[in-house]
Amino acid sequence: MLLYLSKYGPQKEKRIHPLIQSRSTKHLHNLPVEQIIHKNIRQTFSKMQTGISVLNHSWIGSDNYVAKTEQLVKVSKESIFDSFAYVPLFYRKNLRLKKYFVMEGVFLTLICSEMQGTEIDYFLVKTKDEQLQIDVEDKLDVLEQDLLLISNIVNKITIPTPNYTRDCKICEWKQYCKNLAKVTGDLTLISGIGKRIKSELKKLNINSVSELASANLENANLEFTSKKHLEYIQLQARSFVNDENIIRESIQFPEKTTELYVDIEGSPYQDFVWMIGCLVKEKGSVEHKNFLAKSPKEEQSMFESFLEFLREYDTNYILYHWSQAEPQYFRNLTKKHAIPFSSLKTILDNSLDLFKIFKEKTILPISSYTLKEVANYIGFQWDEPLSDGATSIVLFDKWYNYGDQKALRRAILYNSDDCKALMIIKNFIIKLQNPIKGE
Ligand code: SF4
Repeated sequence: MLLYLSKYGPQKEKRIHPLIQSRSTKHLHNLPVEQIIHKNIRQTFSKMQTGISVLNHSWIGSDNYVAKTEQLVKVSKESIFDSFAYVPLFYRKNLRLKKYFVMEGVFLTLICSEMQGTEIDYFLVKTKDEQLQIDVEDKLDVLEQDLLLISNIVNKITIPTPNYTRDCKICEWKQYCKNLAKVTGDLTLISGIGKRIKSELKKLNINSVSELASANLENANLEFTSKKHLEYIQLQARSFVNDENIIRESIQFPEKTTELYVDIEGSPYQDFVWMIGCLVKEKGSVEHKNFLAKSPKEEQSMFESFLEFLREYDTNYILYHWSQAEPQYFRNLTKKHAIPFSSLKTILDNSLDLFKIFKEKTILPISSYTLKEVANYIGFQWDEPLSDGATSIVLFDKWYNYGDQKALRRAILYNSDDCKALMIIKNFIIKLQNPIKGE
């Protein structure tokens, strides 16, 4: 049933929630049908019977639930297989585990217990350097409540009101919840409002975006929300309700003959920067350049080539980027490869964070200020069909680990679109401030 909600749910949302009337289905996943899942579970069971030490990406199931595991590892324990049983194991980058992840582990141990006729009371999490055992006994009550809630949602006994937060970005239910939040005017649609601020606003009897837009907040005194932030979220709400763009403060861009729009791709797993993508705009022409490292060994020379390229412009350029990721990459690369600090200083002195401009000076009727959301709002679309935040990681993996040259070309194209999006956003801000001057 949990699988039904977490995986099949988005395809069946109209049946589950009465408020959702229509939705595009083009991005839905092709999931295995029920018979195939049950066949996969039987295969897992047969492999378990052989006593194999590890099972990868296997389906497991009990009377009511099915799920797919990352890995199952054999341990000594009495079970229907005699003296051994299997426990779920997850691979993670670090051991800072979010609640939803822990509950997934608890859910898998429950199925493992029922499937193997024994009590599995822990699951494992492995990082590059260590392995942690997480006991589930004290979490089973929470799981029971979650499962009951899910059952009530499926049976329309409970109508959920989701909080549309940054965690939603990676959730299968993202579109469903966003649609629902729009229909109900949920406060979490507003950038800057999470669960805590939502519940504070509720205490002021502000329950929707339109109520926030028109509220008198002069004397409002909230514990966790400053006056300044309250003003900000109210402006956001007004922008939403009136579908308008708001300039809070005028923005001056430096006048330079060359504009560089930079987006850097790093691999969190291989721990190196593999591409610096740069859209160069000068003398009326626009060209995308990419500086590529085919392995960690090439990272230094790749960065040095980029610095050499910048030196040609002396200080007569302005480098635009989105968020603090790029300056941080530059700092890390400078330190890692013992590059003179003066090079870093020149870059940072000639850089401008377009994300910061949006956060501080401009308000749009959107729910979050990711590069994608802002650019999509303006009307820019990425060519690459895979277009979520993990795209470049997926393409890098295909190229780096499996030599897929087509994936590399797609990654370069994707990066070039990110850079183009930056340029379009910058032009949009100029236009917003001065519709006549704008390009
Ligand atoms: S509220 Fe967000 S995290 Fe929760 S189900 Fe909806 S999209 Fe997923």
